[in-house]
Amino acid sequence: MQRVELQVAAKRIAREAWSKKMKTCLVVDDSSVIRKVARRILEGLEFQIVEAENGEEAIESCRQQIPDAILLDWNMPKMDGYDFLRALRRLPGGDKPKVVFCTTENDVAHIARALHAGANEYIMKPFDKDIVEAKFQEVGLI
Ligand SMILES: [Mg+2]
Repeated sequence: MQRVELQVAAKRIAREAWSKKMKTCLVVDDSSVIRKVARRILEGLEFQIVEAENGEEAIESCRQQIPDAILLDWNMPKMDGYDFLRALRRLPGGDKPKVVFCTTENDVAHIARALHAGANEYIMKPFDKDIVEAKFQEVGLI
């Protein structure tokens, strides 16, 4: 997406969410299939969804509007999940979103690094509705 489109989309979705008293979730993943699956699950949990396909787009989106939740992929081109997370937590209000990061690697060091960078929880791919719902409950989003 273009920068301006992203800015407009993030603001429009935030306004809609506010008027419907819904929470917003930014879904960050370079796979359009994963974004689609995540969107379906999270819309079922009453979230308004904003999508980004890499960390750069995600940071741009957060500069416009800080979401309530972020479902974050780890491996992405341009800016990965780790660099995004560090950049997010330095933004004004960037400490607020609950961040659940997704990884395919069952690697303790990797998970520890993410939690140290400010992630609240993690899930392993492939995830389903039950897993997402459980983790979002654990961090107090639902
Ligand atoms: Mg990826």
